Amino acid sequence: MAYDDGNVFAKILRGEIPCNKVYEDEFALAFHDINPQAPIHVLVIPKGPYVSFADFAAMADAETVAGFFKAANTVARELGLEAPGYRILANAGRDANQEVPHFHLHIFGGANLGRMIEKVRG
Ligand code: 5GP
Repeated sequence: MAYDDGNVFAKILRGEIPCNKVYEDEFALAFHDINPQAPIHVLVIPKGPYVSFADFAAMADAETVAGFFKAANTVARELGLEAPGYRILANAGRDANQEVPHFHLHIFGGANLGRMIEKVRG
């Protein structure tokens, strides 16, 4: 799947749409989700044009992958989530209902998050 420069996170990266930023470095931008699903719900996105986790893992160089995941770890720590705990999630493709085609991690926290996901029947 080709990267769509018009997706909402590309617009946020270009500064065309505002975001409530919590962290930025050369590898990643993190900001609050516009429709939070937990008391803390932050998105962490790489700065490069990667459609999905698979695209990022396959195409990004090792420094970029490491820098991105280290940035996500910094975000969770700076949000104060290390001690109480938190959840990281990445939706990929149709069955996960990935809405925005720019790879991103969700970081959820601030309360007990319950089960990993609702049980799904195949
Ligand atoms: P996905 O389903 O692709 O994993 O999640 C996309 C997330 O992006 C959703 O949780 C949605 O609320 C969030 N989102 C969509 N548009 C915007 C926006 O313009 N700003 C912010 N901050 N979040 C957005």
